[in-house]
Amino acid sequence: MTTPKTLTKEVVGALRSVVGTNSVVLHEPSFEGNELLYLKECLDSTFVSSVGKFVDQFEADLASYTGAKHAISVVNGTAALQIALKVAGVRANDEVLTPALTFVATANAVSYCSAIPHFVDSEEYTMGIDTLKLREYLRENTSQRAGQCINNETGRVIRALIPMHTFGHPSDLEGLLSIAFDFNIILIEDAAESLGSFYQEKHTGTFGLLGTLSFNGNKTITTGGGGAILTNNDVLARHAKHLITTAKLPHAWEYRHDEIGYNYRMPNINAAMGCAQLEQLPAKLAAKRELFLRYQSAFDDVEGITLFKEPKNCRSNYWLQTLILDQDTSDNLNQILESTNSTGIMTRPAWTLINELAPFKDFPRMDLVNARSLSGRIINIPSSPGLVLGRYG
Ligand SMILES: *Cc1c(COP(=O)(O)O)cnc(C)c1O
Repeated sequence: MTTPKTLTKEVVGALRSVVGTNSVVLHEPSFEGNELLYLKECLDSTFVSSVGKFVDQFEADLASYTGAKHAISVVNGTAALQIALKVAGVRANDEVLTPALTFVATANAVSYCSAIPHFVDSEEYTMGIDTLKLREYLRENTSQRAGQCINNETGRVIRALIPMHTFGHPSDLEGLLSIAFDFNIILIEDAAESLGSFYQEKHTGTFGLLGTLSFNGNKTITTGGGGAILTNNDVLARHAKHLITTAKLPHAWEYRHDEIGYNYRMPNINAAMGCAQLEQLPAKLAAKRELFLRYQSAFDDVEGITLFKEPKNCRSNYWLQTLILDQDTSDNLNQILESTNSTGIMTRPAWTLINELAPFKDFPRMDLVNARSLSGRIINIPSSPGLVLGRYG
């Protein structure tokens, strides 16, 4: 059996063989295309703010790339989720199923709608929601009343289900769709991490009633800050666009607003960056896949640890490359984090489970054994496309 010290040394060695001798960060953006050109066009035209041709262009490009009928750009991915939940009909005191193993934004967005996150377990194969376990749980703990799924214990409606495609890897969408159908629950995908990831040839974020993307600085492409809502539903798309535009009724000069809206539009300068970044997405995805292959050969004979590989019938964007410690080597997590970070190789553990965070600790949840185990064994390693495209020389 490998001792902790040997394992840590082997991990550092394997990482060094791929990333070289310099200091490397977890994920950094790169701007190799038309960013400056398009930004200058914004400044020259004075259209830097909430309307402009790049907003329309970016939305059209996103729709075309993902295959969604509509893409609505917004200020960030969290706002995208909030609006998606709102137009889907999530109301105060509804429960919304979300994985405990996700970034806090997923649960925050539920709370912004005064709804209640209800945490569900994940599976190791996809790092997303464990659909077999969720189906069993719903069968035992809910009943159907007037076409709605009721939580037997709380009496509240379970309105929606938000899977998240962890580190870019598609969740079991077939299982999720059938749960949504069988239990009358609305499916909304948090695809913040999975731009460029496909499940059976269809883009993630286009399976649910709505899906959301993020273009934060650490994501596969960035607009500085930004997000988008994807949907094939014309009515929901129109409502989402209306809500993020202060719910203003179209008129040449009158200010008339027919509901409480939001100022969540993506500015034209951010969309300009988005257009330029989207042009480079294929190159970034190719680099990330190549990086995965390099890590794969490097970690091939490191025992006690597995490099996460895209699930079957999926094409992942490999946003964040992931090592998973075997059960019996999980004691090594902190030592590996300590050694890699102190030698200039930035690595990070998975998020603290959301139900363990103070603001979320009293919400309903199922048993979370897999999520708890995973969160103690995941290590994200340097994943920038620049590691392949040459930024680190
Ligand atoms: C990045 C991210 C979001 C949205 O983040 P913003 O910073 O608001 O764009 C939401 N959910 C998950 C899982 C994320 O990783």
